[in-house]
This record gives sequence, C-alpha cells and structure tokens, in this order.
Amino acid sequence: MNKEKFYAQFAFGSHLCRKPMPPMCEMKRDMEILKSRGFNLIKIQAHWGLDEPAENIMDTAAYEELVDYAGKLDMGVYMGLTNEQAPNWLWEKYPDCRMTAHNGSALAYQAQYTLPADGKPGPCYDHPGAMAAQLDFTARFVERLSVYENIVIWNTWQEIGYWSEHLTGGHVCYCDNTMNFFREWLKGKYKNLDALNRALSVNYSDWKYIAPDRQNGTSCLPMDFEWQYFMNHVQIGNVLQKRCETIKAHDMHKRPVFAHKSAPAFASGMDHTYARCQDFLGSSSYPAWSSGDGRDDCRYDEFGRREKYDALFAETFNGICLNFDFLRSSNRFGAHTWAAELQGGPVSTGFHLGRVPSASDIRRWLLGLLGSGVTGISFWVTRAEIMAGEMNGFSLLDNEGSTTERLEEAGNIAKFINKYPDLFNTPAAQRAQVGIIVDEDNYIGCSRLAQGGDGLGYSMRGWYKYMFDNNISVDFVHAEELGEEYIGSYKLLVMPFPLFMSDKTAENFGKYVEDGGFLVSEATPGRIRENGMTRRETMAMRDIFGVKHKSLKMVSEPNYGHRFTPGPRTWGEYLDPAKFAGAGIFEGYDLPANLYVQCFELDKAEEILQFDQMTAGALNCRGKGRAVIIGSYIGHSAAAYRNDSSDNFVKKLLSVAGVAYPDAKGVNIRERRADKKKAYIIFNTTSEIQKTALPPDRSYRYLDSYGGKVSKCCKECGLIFVECEPLEAAAVVLQS
Ligand SMILES: [Zn+2]
Repeated sequence: MNKEKFYAQFAFGSHLCRKPMPPMCEMKRDMEILKSRGFNLIKIQAHWGLDEPAENIMDTAAYEELVDYAGKLDMGVYMGLTNEQAPNWLWEKYPDCRMTAHNGSALAYQAQYTLPADGKPGPCYDHPGAMAAQLDFTARFVERLSVYENIVIWNTWQEIGYWSEHLTGGHVCYCDNTMNFFREWLKGKYKNLDALNRALSVNYSDWKYIAPDRQNGTSCLPMDFEWQYFMNHVQIGNVLQKRCETIKAHDMHKRPVFAHKSAPAFASGMDHTYARCQDFLGSSSYPAWSSGDGRDDCRYDEFGRREKYDALFAETFNGICLNFDFLRSSNRFGAHTWAAELQGGPVSTGFHLGRVPSASDIRRWLLGLLGSGVTGISFWVTRAEIMAGEMNGFSLLDNEGSTTERLEEAGNIAKFINKYPDLFNTPAAQRAQVGIIVDEDNYIGCSRLAQGGDGLGYSMRGWYKYMFDNNISVDFVHAEELGEEYIGSYKLLVMPFPLFMSDKTAENFGKYVEDGGFLVSEATPGRIRENGMTRRETMAMRDIFGVKHKSLKMVSEPNYGHRFTPGPRTWGEYLDPAKFAGAGIFEGYDLPANLYVQCFELDKAEEILQFDQMTAGALNCRGKGRAVIIGSYIGHSAAAYRNDSSDNFVKKLLSVAGVAYPDAKGVNIRERRADKKKAYIIFNTTSEIQKTALPPDRSYRYLDSYGGKVSKCCKECGLIFVECEPLEAAAVVLQS
C-alpha cells in the first residue's frame, strides 16, 4: 500500500487506538477483522506527552509495529497528532507557556491522559519556545514514521479548539505572548493607531494598552469583533498552518495533511478559514449524541419521550446532512471532505450508555454522508473503549466477539462504495443551484448579541431545510466569496438573519443582483456594521431592495409561546401572532412572521407582502437581477410551528427565482457525479413506505444499488423507481 494505490480507493476506515492502548494482539486481530469486512484504513492517534516523556527521548515502537502490520494487510494508516497533550518537561522548561484565562489566572492543567479531551486546552503555542518544541517533535515524529509508505494521511489536530471554559474554567488566551500577537495583528490590519481608534470608537494613546474586554457575558462591543476573529481565525489558524508546513517539510512521501473539528461551526466562517490552513478540513460525527434543536416541532409520547421517527430524522438531518453540506462548502471547491470520526457504536459518557446503532442507522448515516459529498470516512472506534469514562462506547465491535450487525452493515457498504471508487472519492465538481450566505461578521455579532442572536443559526438551518424538503442542492456561500466569478451561477442567494454587515459585503450583494442574480433577504439587512455600531439610516442596501425602513416591532410566536423569543418585560412589547398577506405576484399567499415585523416604504420596488395595510415584503428589479426583502425571519418556520403557508410561500419564491426542483413527497434525493457515472442517494424522511421515481435521464442506465427496492417501469419510459421503508436510505448507481 502507498498513497497512489490508496487514493484510487475510497478511504473507509476506523480508529484503532490511542494511549492507553489495548493489548497488541487484540489490535492486530481487530485489524484483520476490519480488513476482511472491506475496510482499507486504520487510524492511530499519537500522544506527545507519552511519546516523548523526556526531551529528545522518543518512543514510537508501538505505532511502528501497528503501521507495519497494517502494511502487511495492505491497509492504509491515518496518523493523527495531538500536540495539546504536551510532555511534562515542556511545562517545566517553559513555565510561562501556560494559557492565561480572562480572569488572569494561569491554567494549571497538564494532561497525562487522552480523556477527557485530547489534552485541550494544552500549552499556549504563541510562546516561541513551546511552538518550536511542538514543531520539533512533529518534525522528528514525521521523519521517523514517514518511511512507512502505507501512512496515507496526517492529521494535525484532533477536534480543533481549546474548550477551556468547559475543561478548566475561563476563556483563553490572555497571556503576554498572545496579547502581543493580537496587537501585532491589529497593527497589520489598521497600520496606524488613529485608524484603529476611529474604527473601534476608542482612544488608545499607545499600542501597548490595547487588550480585549475581559467581562463575562455578551456585550457586542467593537473590540469583541476583533478579539473573537483573532482567537478563532488568526491564533488557531497560525497553529494549524505551522503544523501543516512542518509535516509537509519532513514527510518524504508528501502525503496529504488535514485536521478536524468536533462538529462544523454552523453559520460561522471559522471552518472556511481552517479549511485553508492545510489540505482540507474534516469533522467528527456522532449523530445519536443529540436530536436536532430543542426549538423544533417535536412529538412526545405519553411519558414525555421524543417519538422515534422525530428523533431519528433529526439526528440524521442535523448530524449528517446539514453538518456535512456545511463542511463541504467550507472546504476549498474540489477539495476532499472527510468524516474523520463517525460514531460506530453507542455514545457512552460515564454511566450513561446510549442506543446501539442498528444496521439501518449505520446505512442511513453512511449513505447520508455520501449524499453530502463526503470523500472519506473513518469510524470511531473499532473495539469498545477501555477507559471507564467512555466504557462500552462508540465502537463497531463490542468488548468481545469478532462481529456485530453494525460492523457487517458498515463492511457491506464499504464494499459497495469501493466497487465505484472514482464516483465516490471525487469531490463535487458542480456548484449547487442555491447558495445560503455565511458571513463571519454577522456570526460574530449575532453570537455576542443577547437574547436572540442565536436566531442566525436557527434561521439559516431553516432555509437549508426548506431546500432539503424540496430536493434542492445547497452550498453555503461565504461572504468572502462574493465577487468571485462563479457567484453569478447561483440562481438564488439567501441572506438569513442578516443583522451585521460590512459596506464591502453589501456592495458585493448589490453587484450580484445587478449582474443578474436573485437575492432574498430576511428583515433588517445590515442594521449593524461589522464593528458593532448601528447604521443611522437603519438600512443598508436601500437601492438594491428599493425600499426604505418604516417600522419595527417584535411579534409573538403562535399561541404566545417562547421558543425563540424572550419573555416580555412588561405590557406592550409584542404584536399579536401575525401573518403577512401576499400581494402582487404573491396574491393569494400568506406568511407567518417570527421574532420581528419590519415594514417598509416603497421606493422603486413592488409590494409582495402586506401587514396592517403597510408593506412587509417587496421585490425590486435592479440592473439585470432582482432582490426580495421579507420583513421578518421566516427560516424559523421550516422546523418550528411548521405550516403550509410558509412552505408554499418559499415554493413560490423558488419558482419566481427560476430554481427547478422535483416534488418527491418527503423523499430526499441527492446526487453524486463523476467518471461517467452518477449516484442517487435516496432518504425517505417520512414515516411511511415511499416509492419514488428517480429524475428521468435517458443518457444513463441502471448499474447497481444498495438498500431500498429498485424497479424499472418499462423499456419505453426507462423510469427507475426506488421503494424505501420509513427513514430508510438507499443508493442507486447509474452509468452513462
Ligand atoms: Zn497565550
């Protein structure tokens, strides 16, 4: 096995071990089991602290024995580094490499064990000595291991992040090294102090005084935007980049380098940045850890338990489809997207043991990943965890035995996928019809806006769900991409919850419209600038939408609930639950409002929605394109207080925008295409058996399928039908 041979296949693997390891003979036998079931990859996780217990004394014998054995089985190895687990000598040598929390205390935690979180937060690598030491270890580790040709990929960070608030109490890092890095970065951005003072509404007399605010809570101060961007993008990005550069410089076989998240940072631009710090970005996925969002409509049985159908749909929709469409979109176009840790067994946290995934769970998750464009999958973990904190957990194999139903299903799917490796290991080469906008300025602002900023993620998820329900492919388009030539190829761009926006982003939206695009915005676009200061004129992009702001008021949820609105302070804050009435080309439609009702004065636009005899939605023709503004946040209605009016309004909007879609009655159909083949991934999201016709295309003929019952209509029409049980997933491969 070498990288060329490996990458002719679809990477399908499983984590084997991290320290403390199970017995060597058990791990070798487990590798044989994986190999016999069609797996071609094992993952091994390193542990700096245990691998180099004294400076320059490095012990990699166990890893080498395992890598060598994998090679004998013709399997690839995915080698993951965890440099947050720093050795004791490093802490002693550089006592000032400890991260500093916002209250000024140095974090005392020195991880000896991988649990709970792979050593996070670890040392502060803004300390030059600590940074040099981790890169030196990385270089020597890679040099020693790189002789093994069957190592096929390196991973630089096991679930990127520090998680310090949760693990050690206090957000990070406020040490002198990080403060100096922050100031240097601000100098690079603003060039002179006057410019910074003007932009951030402060009056510093010297760069040395500049520091982030250290209070608890959310306040949305101008400096918060700089600090949050710096820590999440620049500081972590620097560590990722340095690790990647080091591996590339010391790996004689130049294998790809990636890193992965515990989950995508949905609605944030963070992952877009991380994806550009090495070859690509992957993510963990533990679908059965949670079921969607507490604000969603959900049915409960007489004992208050969530209904099986609702729970299983939500875990797949959120944990697989949404997350990996988001991750794929965050990666460079044409780059790989890996499920770097996929749940293989029951979630286990201490004494709380989760449900054992069934064969149909494994099938739904694996095929769902393929539908989102995933090009490599590695399960976590092969055999049940040996440490108490995660005992019995996460594994394809139980404590004893050589197989399980879930392992067999995974293996069968591995063999199916690897009959058509080019089809499934080739990253998507076409862009989606619809783009949903991700703007990091908006994310940072909303994440610091009290009592409702989390509406951004919920509205964005809702717009994704409208598209998912109508079988429309979606890319999450990052604000930095606006202005690129390919942006014009999106038939529709949606701006969910667009509260914070820079002038530059607003200009780029205007250009998209003038060049022929179709833009839809929810209420109050660009109400606040990217530095947390409001716009006096209260509305950006007036000319693009052809309206002026008139009024704004909060509106009650249906039946006066409070799933996403705060309880009133006193009388008179909220309007009664409201529906907009369609007007003009939307005559006959209506639309429930959520959170706010914004009304407009028409300038050049035509009215499409009315509320209380005022304009609550408008469509404007501008240049070669059109722009729609809706005076509320309607993404929320895709999963909360679901109703036909909202669904029908969105369908009408799609047809006005020229977005084509097949009506598949609750069966989600997604497509992969490469190598003169295409695959349809079918997911019956309903609670009844469904028989669905695949989109007709005479230039392709049926080749193969996995799951569902496939039948052909007749020679004349050539239609292919797939029948799926409730919540069943299937894949059909066609050849041109
Ligand atoms: Zn620091």
